[in-house]
Amino acid sequence: MNEEPVAKPASEPATKAEVAIPLNEVVISLYEAQDKIYPRSVSGFFTKWRWVMIWLTQIFFYGVPWLEWGHRQALLFDLEAKRFYIFNLVLYPQDLIYLTAILIISALSLFLFTAIAGRLWCGYTCPQTVYTEIFLWIERKIEGDRAVRMKLDASTMSSKKLARKTLKHFVWIVFALITGFTFVGYFTPIRELSKELFSLSLGPWEIFWVCFYGFATYGNAGFMREQVCKYMCPYARFQSAMFDDDTLIVTYDEERGEPRGGRSRKAEVNTKELGSCIDCSLCVQVCPTGIDIRKGLQYECIGCGACADVCDTVMDKMGYERGLVKYSTQHAITNKWTHKQMVQRILRPRVLIYASILGLIIVALMTSLWLRTHFRVDVVRDRGVMARLSDDGKLENVYRLQIMNGTESVQHYKLSASGINDLEIESEAVSDGEESEHENHDNTIMVNPAESRWLIVDLKIPDGSLESGSHKIEFKIEDVESKEIVTEKSVFLVPR
Ligand code: SF4
Ligand code: SF4
Repeated sequence: MNEEPVAKPASEPATKAEVAIPLNEVVISLYEAQDKIYPRSVSGFFTKWRWVMIWLTQIFFYGVPWLEWGHRQALLFDLEAKRFYIFNLVLYPQDLIYLTAILIISALSLFLFTAIAGRLWCGYTCPQTVYTEIFLWIERKIEGDRAVRMKLDASTMSSKKLARKTLKHFVWIVFALITGFTFVGYFTPIRELSKELFSLSLGPWEIFWVCFYGFATYGNAGFMREQVCKYMCPYARFQSAMFDDDTLIVTYDEERGEPRGGRSRKAEVNTKELGSCIDCSLCVQVCPTGIDIRKGLQYECIGCGACADVCDTVMDKMGYERGLVKYSTQHAITNKWTHKQMVQRILRPRVLIYASILGLIIVALMTSLWLRTHFRVDVVRDRGVMARLSDDGKLENVYRLQIMNGTESVQHYKLSASGINDLEIESEAVSDGEESEHENHDNTIMVNPAESRWLIVDLKIPDGSLESGSHKIEFKIEDVESKEIVTEKSVFLVPR
């Protein structure tokens, strides 16, 4: 029924919203206030696997920054020094292509995995799910399971309630700060960070990032929870494009379950003309996103399998066959396929295309890493010094070369140039913008492990030996120890 909006008397000021909304339009809110979800604890096959994944991901996350590789942290993204250390790899900003390739591989792996197994990533390994599960576990240990927590939240404030809430938030905050500290340890050597922490000498930026990441963990896992998956995660929105009827999803077997209805444990399904679903609502109570899987596939479902676990428990108690709620595919459910038939559909065109592209990129990355030289060179013409005549009457061009040693040992690099007859080369090492002593003899420079050095290079030719204009030249830099060679092209300018 459409009610005509009642206009206010002219003397009564209209609110902002009333002014903005035309009288004949219906307002639909983009945000719907929702009741808090109190997921009930659950046990079973998939819950065990979820905890296995939680342990594995957390051991990895908290453990890896403490691993040493030689005399440094094994995995360190040193933004200040513009170097990424990934075990025996040292990457410079010039190696951004490798990081891009790693990101593309991650994205394609997610596409492939989603096409095969649906949202298993969300349910088992996504940091949002993992931390929500950990925070929920802490909450259950301190406040109790679903019913007790609901009762506690509904009760008026008392010393008992205050003590439990305070303890819960204290443990959450400590855990969140440890998480923030570990996260920062991927960007600043974690052992130095620990020393600074215990000597209370952490820098302001380090404090900021520990608190920022800790606060994000506390907020997302303690309060936002399923709201992040429902409203903030882009993956939830576009994953349906990767789904097809052979993608593994958590499904309710409607044909078997309906008509649902309560009954005594011993009642025969057939005599009451009921399906296997006893309408206990436990599948809804355990769901971390608060949905009812019996309504079909919904974008809020993160594929955690909690509803399948609890429903199997119910089926066991009732003496019915398990699997009323289970991982299956739309095709398998519709066509009543066997498990074998379902598995055979894994290798379908979409999966093969994703897998082929992924395989090609991985092979290309590996080959590129294998063939990659262990040092990099950047050549810059010194724009501050144009071509000029030197004291000895020769025509001179000046260049700046940066040599980056990507190995873990001291290396020596020999520099030469070619492309023009009678080309002479002189080089001088520069350190931190200041010219240092002539450490380079015979145009050979020493560079410390995983460090870079700048060189000022003078190229000279006899004056008048070349016509005016730009002439192509090539720098050749040879690693004296490994004999690897890098060449860089540039130009030599002869003024009119
Ligand atoms: S847990 Fe199983 S039996 Fe209970 S309501 Fe859900 S689907 Fe039905
Ligand atoms: S519907 Fe089931 S699988 Fe989906 S999120 Fe809820 S409990 Fe997890």
